[in-house]
Amino acid sequence: MSTGDSASGPVRRAGRARGRVLDELVAGLGPITAEDLAARLPEVHVSSVYRALAVLEEEGVVAHVHLGHGPAVYQLAEEADAVRHLVCDVCGLDVVVPSGVFSPLRRRLERDYGFVLDADHFAVVGRCVACARATRRHPG
Ligand SMILES: [Zn+2]
Ligand SMILES: [Zn+2]
Repeated sequence: MSTGDSASGPVRRAGRARGRVLDELVAGLGPITAEDLAARLPEVHVSSVYRALAVLEEEGVVAHVHLGHGPAVYQLAEEADAVRHLVCDVCGLDVVVPSGVFSPLRRRLERDYGFVLDADHFAVVGRCVACARATRRHPG
């Protein structure tokens, strides 16, 4: 990671914010909301954190996913690519599964409907084991 460029002023500050944001994500902090990330970096302005995340996403280094109704969470693209999220609609549990789980469905949708599945931007919503069991016990 090069920080030795001769840029000055806002550009250099932006670069520093990007570096700090990336450091946190590399340290295994993600998935994390932009707001929580900003709270961990009091020396970086909140708007700089958002900008840094946007730039890092454009560069393909960082990716975000929507786990529910709340704000998106960010993590390193490399880590995000490897997993998919199944979020329980009842208790909010985030069940993280290997991305390959959706491969057969992806192939089938593309073959039969020409539809290209993108299961990495939004979590798949349903019920976790415990909540599914509880619902079954009290049908209706
Ligand atoms: Zn649940
Ligand atoms: Zn999004």
